[in-house]
Amino acid sequence: MTKRQDEILQIVKQSGPITGKEIAEKLSLTRAALRPDLAILTMSGNLDARPRVGYFYNQELEVKQHAEKFLHQKVSDFKAHPIVVEKSTSVYDAIVQLFLEDVGTLYAVDEDGNLAGVISRKDLLRTAIGNQNLNELPVSVIMTRMPNIVTIHPEETLLEAAKKMINNHIDSLPVVKEMEDDTYLLVGRITKTTITRAYLEIMEQKLD
Ligand code: ADP
Repeated sequence: MTKRQDEILQIVKQSGPITGKEIAEKLSLTRAALRPDLAILTMSGNLDARPRVGYFYNQELEVKQHAEKFLHQKVSDFKAHPIVVEKSTSVYDAIVQLFLEDVGTLYAVDEDGNLAGVISRKDLLRTAIGNQNLNELPVSVIMTRMPNIVTIHPEETLLEAAKKMINNHIDSLPVVKEMEDDTYLLVGRITKTTITRAYLEIMEQKLD
């Protein structure tokens, strides 16, 4: 979109319905000079024109463009750092870590940094009310482990991430790369907050 087309869009957004003549006046241009830009904006669906009324801004198209852009965002562009513990870490230390890092889910890794398990708030709460010795108990005993972990690849979309979280009733997904030896290298995390943040960011973005 050219600078002038953007100016026209902003005018129609603020003052529509508005006639071509009025837009031309606001931009100190002739109606003829404006005609090609108005034609382009109408053909692309950004503006609607009604005889004798003028130009309208097509809000629906903007919402659709935003939504489409949102849905195709890649996991790799939004993932956060994974907060990890060794699988030998005690449940007590995992709880401390959860508070220190201000997260809802921890990932357990093996000696090579490969994903071994998921430990959620409720996994820790359930264990804590069971009166066990939390300092002696390793998280490996209570974590959800492979092959039951639902993961996502960096090249997948946020839409796929959202679907996986909703369908599996979970708050987060480890972002992993599958290695040749069938292990999963942990490279990030996607949470429900990630999706909400991406939604806000894109909806507030100016589209071109
Ligand atoms: P919370 O238990 O705090 O509500 P979740 O809803 O994310 O958090 O977790 C529910 C259960 O699912 C827990 O037992 C947790 O270990 C497990 N879980 C969490 N994330 C995953 C995942 N990506 N794949 C498989 N299981 C998971």
